[in-house]
This record gives sequence, C-alpha cells and structure tokens, in this order.
Amino acid sequence: MIINIDSGSGFCFGVIKAIEKAEEELSHCNELNCLGDIVHNTEEVSRLSSLGLNVIDHQQMEEHSNKPLLIRAHGEPPDTYIRAEELNIRVIDATCPVVLKLQQRVKTGWLEMKQKEGQVVIFGKQGHAEVVGLAGQTDNQAIIVSSLDQLDQIDPTKPLRLFSQTTMGLDDFSELREQIKSLLEKNGQEDFKAYDTICRQVSNRRDELTEFALKNDVVIFVSGKKSSNGKVLFDHCKSVNPHTFFVSSAKEINPDWFKNVSSVGICGATSTPRWLMENIATQIRIFEENCS
Ligand code: SF4
Repeated sequence: MIINIDSGSGFCFGVIKAIEKAEEELSHCNELNCLGDIVHNTEEVSRLSSLGLNVIDHQQMEEHSNKPLLIRAHGEPPDTYIRAEELNIRVIDATCPVVLKLQQRVKTGWLEMKQKEGQVVIFGKQGHAEVVGLAGQTDNQAIIVSSLDQLDQIDPTKPLRLFSQTTMGLDDFSELREQIKSLLEKNGQEDFKAYDTICRQVSNRRDELTEFALKNDVVIFVSGKKSSNGKVLFDHCKSVNPHTFFVSSAKEINPDWFKNVSSVGICGATSTPRWLMENIATQIRIFEENCS
C-alpha cells in the first residue's frame, strides 16, 4: 500500500512564524503566556504546553502582569496592547504579516469613512479572534457580515469599504461584493470599494486538495476539531472522495478503512502539524504489517 503525505498540507507561514517565536522565547525561560490557543490543534498545543507555553484569556492578563505575553498569528485589537502596557506586560507580537497589513488597511478605510460619514464592512465570523482584531481598528464600529442574509445591517445610501477576514471563501466574497455594489447603486451611492484580503495560503488549498483526494483510494484528513479551516477542507475532500475520514490523532485511525486499498493520502488544514501527519503514516504502516 502506498502512503502519500500531501506536501502542501501543514502550517501556513503565519503559524510557523508564531510557533518559532514561542519556541525561541521558551529556549531561555521556563514559562510563556499566550493569549488564546496559538493554533487550533490540540496535539500541537499540548506539545508546546510541555515546553512551558501557557494559554490565558484577556480576563487573566491582570494576574499575569509583569510577565511576557505572546500574541498569536490572528492578531489583537489596539485595546489589548494598551492593557498590556498598563500591566507592564512585555508583548511578543507574532501577528501574521498578512493580518497586520489587513489591520492597517481596515484602519485607513475607517479613517476615510469617518470623514465621509460612511461605513466599513468586514466579511467574517462574528467573535473570531482575527475579526475582533480588525473591528478594533474601527473603534468597534465596523459592521460584521458573515452571510448574504445579513445585509440589512448596512445603510445603502452611505459610502462603503468592504474587507474580508483572511480565511473566508473567495466565491462567497465575490458574491457578497456584487450584492453590496448593486444595493448601493440602486440607492444612488457610487462610493464603494471592495478589497479582496483573503489569504491565498488558505484559498489555494481547495484546488490542490481536489487533485490530492482524487489520486488516492482513501484520504485521511488530519485536523483539530476546533479548526474552522479544517472543517471546510475536510468537507471539500469528502465531496471529492467519499472515502475520506477525519481524525485528530493517530489513536482515531480504524484499520478497517484500509482493507483492499492500494493508496492512502494523508492531508490536513493550515493548523495541522507535519509531525502529526507523519505519526499517522507510521500508525497505518503498523496496521499494515500486523495484517500481513
Ligand atoms: S492563513 Fe494566511 S493570514 Fe492566516 S496566519 Fe496563515 S498565512 Fe497568515
């Protein structure tokens, strides 16, 4: 049986950079706090926890004053940096450069809209950490829209700037852009600009995974259960190849999946560590040897 590990699966560069920063800091101290899970993968979080990475939330910042704090790739709103300074917390900022640039663009768009009495719309998931960081650039005045049926929140008579959370789907963004454009036009408002700020590290994965899922008899999709990107990409693989199975660790592998199979593909989300996919390949090999 041939086992293929998808070369395109695994951490995106934003997550790699955040983990490298955490490991570098932990190499000269025993403990480091991180605001939220550094990555939506329990296995990787527990590996880093064994090195001393401790996950805290915003409410716990006060009890961890005077200690360094890692900000993960999703980024944070300006309030978090202000609070950290008040608490004498040294911030180790691992915000992904793509997110950082988006935060700056949202802020510029917001300053422009304030002068024109317009509005900033963010296509994203309400409450998602990245979206909270983006909304913070607009004094939390941005309108968050996650689907077409939420367009009643916008005022079609006013100027509008549209941005997107980095992990949203390209097709959904295009549809939303066209709907907003036509809504504004119907109301005589032509001052509309939309910025495609979707990260290609995520959006390109669908096409690459289509090819990978088709060329393997069975696909093992590896992801943390909390990863929204993992859920979307798993559903996509399953629609292409119905013999696709979701696992979060090697313990969840079922040997029955590999009966009379000549090729197995292992792939995952942008939050799936490479070492975990390799562990799963090893486990499948063990099952194969035990059966032969
Ligand atoms: S998905 Fe893109 S924007 Fe998000 S952390 Fe990774 S590289 Fe950065």
